[in-house]
Amino acid sequence: MERSLIERTAAEIARGVNRGEHSAAEAVDAALARVGDVEERVGAFLTVLSDDARNRACAIDERVRAGERLPLAGVPLAVKDNMCVTGTRTTCGSRILERWTAPYTATAVRRLEDAGAIVIGKTNLDEFAMGSSCENSALGVTRNPYDLSRVPGGSSGGSAAAVAGYEAAIGVGSDTGGSIREPGAFCNVIGFKPTYGRVSRYGLIAFASSLDQIGPLTRTVEDAALVYDAMAGYDPMDSTSIDRPVEPTAKGLLESLSGLKVGIVRQFDTRELGDDVDEVYDRAYHDLEALGAELHDVSLPTADYGLATYYLIAPAECSSNLARFDGVRYGSRVEAADVQAMYENTRAAGFGPEVKRRILIGTYALSSGYYDAYYVRAQKARTLIARDFEAAFAEVDLIACPAASSPAFTFNAKSDPYSMYMMDYYTIPMSLAGLPALSVPCGWVTPPGGALPLPMGLQFAAPLFSEKLLLGAAHAYESATKHALKHKPEVGARG
Ligand code: GLN
Repeated sequence: MERSLIERTAAEIARGVNRGEHSAAEAVDAALARVGDVEERVGAFLTVLSDDARNRACAIDERVRAGERLPLAGVPLAVKDNMCVTGTRTTCGSRILERWTAPYTATAVRRLEDAGAIVIGKTNLDEFAMGSSCENSALGVTRNPYDLSRVPGGSSGGSAAAVAGYEAAIGVGSDTGGSIREPGAFCNVIGFKPTYGRVSRYGLIAFASSLDQIGPLTRTVEDAALVYDAMAGYDPMDSTSIDRPVEPTAKGLLESLSGLKVGIVRQFDTRELGDDVDEVYDRAYHDLEALGAELHDVSLPTADYGLATYYLIAPAECSSNLARFDGVRYGSRVEAADVQAMYENTRAAGFGPEVKRRILIGTYALSSGYYDAYYVRAQKARTLIARDFEAAFAEVDLIACPAASSPAFTFNAKSDPYSMYMMDYYTIPMSLAGLPALSVPCGWVTPPGGALPLPMGLQFAAPLFSEKLLLGAAHAYESATKHALKHKPEVGARG
């Protein structure tokens, strides 16, 4: 049976447009109609760019008619609202930027546009990407398309929900400590964080600059590879961008895990996560073996310090990065009698509680007298964590572990910050080490009481710059298990 345009993958849409089987305009119209159908329930977008998207689609169709072939021709794209797109509102989910318009386009987004993708809107996120559920957004509520009573994850929850709910074929998010992988797991999509520095951060509004990395959210691994191939590569506009050729990943993705050594981390005991979740990961590890992988026990003795390390380094960098939002240069201003009071009023009104908490922690950790005790020690711990991974990768090709500590939870379930921070227990160590890592659907758990089945994600992590191997392994696992296809979202495939 022919699948509707909204259900097609990016690879299928681009093929259809390049071959003249349907137009980019039709693909974009189908996505926008879907947005019209389900957005009231899902709430993935903060801004929908219908007119711009239609105009761009017509321009792509003209280029294709003139003979050009584009890897993402006519593919509807959802962009997390912490990435600049010329002339569009770019809010970071914050009151302080609620009415700010970006004067230029982020390199990653521009490269996707150059490859033929069409931005259909800007998606919701935890304020300044700080959070794991989108509940910290000051500007909207996003619901999980697989169970509307639950969160989509975060901070890239809007892009994950848009892709899971068939509102866009592909999405991009940013991952600082897990913000692509965790919402990917919660929403039954692939969430892929490349090696730090592989995708330009130019035009990504900074949270923690030594950790922030842009990456794809897609319904298949092949699509994640296509998006990565289009985005990755050196950019002189980002001083931390890596000047080293990119190995293309989308062609020749692995079909088997035969001969691959996969490390299972001794310290990540999934029995602590409850019987149903434990069973999913147990089965996933067995499946890896059945697909030809050799499983090895590996040790990451310092991984347990990941959270503590991250929650010093990330707030320290955020306190410095967010100093620019002062009511003078960007965004909203609350007037006062003198300039000091104006700063204070603006920041008091403009930032939400989690952002303020991080600025306070970060400022404290960087202040003289505490700098050595907290910030410097966290940097040392970061080095030890990276070394643990190096030692593990001397023995194995890849590491497999959970992508998140639980499946998607209900709204307001994590009332204290610590329980929210725990969501990223498994993703933060890879972020601190700069490693490429992704989440791929690996099974479902059904909470008691007639609730809907909830997707779970398996995380693969690989050595620096091993994107090809990482995506290849995930592709082999995905094509053999097909977990993602087992259930449709609650919003239905056709609304
Ligand atoms: N949840 C983590 C945090 O709140 C990670 C966020 C992210 O990766 N942007 O910092």
